[in-house]
Amino acid sequence: MSPRTVAFATLGCRLNQVDTQQLQTLCEARGFRAVPFEEPADVVVVNTCTVTARAEFSDRQAIRRAARVSPRARLVVTGCWAQTSPGDVAGLREVDLVVGNADKRRLPELLDDLLAGRIQVSDIAGERTLPAVPPARVAGRSRAFLKIQDGCQHRCAFCVVPFARGQSRSLEPQVALDQARLLVEAGHPEIVLTGVDLGHYGADLIPRTTLATLLQELVEIPGLRWIRLSSVLPAYFTPALTEIVTSSPVIAPHFHVPLQSGSDRVLRLMRRPYNRAMYRRLVERLTTAIPSLGLGADVIVGFPGERDGDFAETLALIEALPFSYLHVFPYSPRRGTEAATFADVVDARTIARRSTRLRELARAKSLAFRRGLVGSLAEVLVLETRDRATGRLTGLTGNYVEVLFDGADALMTGLARVRVTDAERDRTLGEIA
Ligand code: SF4
Repeated sequence: MSPRTVAFATLGCRLNQVDTQQLQTLCEARGFRAVPFEEPADVVVVNTCTVTARAEFSDRQAIRRAARVSPRARLVVTGCWAQTSPGDVAGLREVDLVVGNADKRRLPELLDDLLAGRIQVSDIAGERTLPAVPPARVAGRSRAFLKIQDGCQHRCAFCVVPFARGQSRSLEPQVALDQARLLVEAGHPEIVLTGVDLGHYGADLIPRTTLATLLQELVEIPGLRWIRLSSVLPAYFTPALTEIVTSSPVIAPHFHVPLQSGSDRVLRLMRRPYNRAMYRRLVERLTTAIPSLGLGADVIVGFPGERDGDFAETLALIEALPFSYLHVFPYSPRRGTEAATFADVVDARTIARRSTRLRELARAKSLAFRRGLVGSLAEVLVLETRDRATGRLTGLTGNYVEVLFDGADALMTGLARVRVTDAERDRTLGEIA
């Protein structure tokens, strides 16, 4: 009998991508054969996102597409939208099974029982542990993603993530270290540590530990060139964390520190656990220690109550700090969040105008940062696919710039040295050094 086949579609953040890779590994261990999404399969799993209204639109599109590509398949929907709106998802005629985040790791078993039930959503708020799942199977990839934390203790007024992913849970340090070693032995020079609220790592464990303590051990793994941190809130940069991230050559000089707004008034409305001055001090500390730091941030535009003066403060702060890239999110209300009940909404045209202005500034900051690299030598991790437009190899620098250069396929997934030769609006060029 030929093995049952399963295909996956993943929407949303990096964490969801890691979750899908782990689900695939678990399904394969249970005898399923994974096939590309474009091929008909016996079961299709759509791993959804719910962070914006646009995300739900994309979720629905992916579900419809899955039904078109695999009309005979059983269609399973999991992820954050499935967790927060199981009734809506189950109401779609294409969907056979809804699996919430709390039940994700039971997915292979649930696939076997698919005909037995329709909705499988447990209360994620009761989840207390982050179970050890084999590290994602990522053969042929240069970078590996290791999820060491899930869930979030904060209650930012705009965010549905705590409802979708529950409270903060961390992977036991020994498990994280063993998985990191396995990934390095499998040929990944770079590991990206991921989590919803990565800086909270370890606070739920007994004994308690911290991200800084885990990093001190991770950086000792032989053969590991870079550990890259996903998003970390400013307040988590304790002296111990700042010390290790600014002193270890194994930690990539690239931090993503979410900002959301440069106005203290808006940050308070958002219930963010920091203010403008804290943010600024942190960035100055980090960039003094690492002059070539790649610095990224998320910014929400048009949060309810954001006035012209608040937006001007955001622009001024961003102008003043050396960001290398920004992710700009026009605000959209999410059902069930505190901000969705706020009356002082910003009209859609103002949100669009401010978003355009901020994106222009983001492009200018990115170009200035990349122009500053021209002429320098950089060690890069060569990604596993060529740039579509130019056919060149893509090398990712420690400070998170993709440099395009000519070279042989044999260089892919390894480390190389390139000289940065030019920075254009949308790309950075280089040559093998
Ligand atoms: S820190 Fe705030 S924005 Fe980030 S996941 Fe937690 S609640 Fe959401």
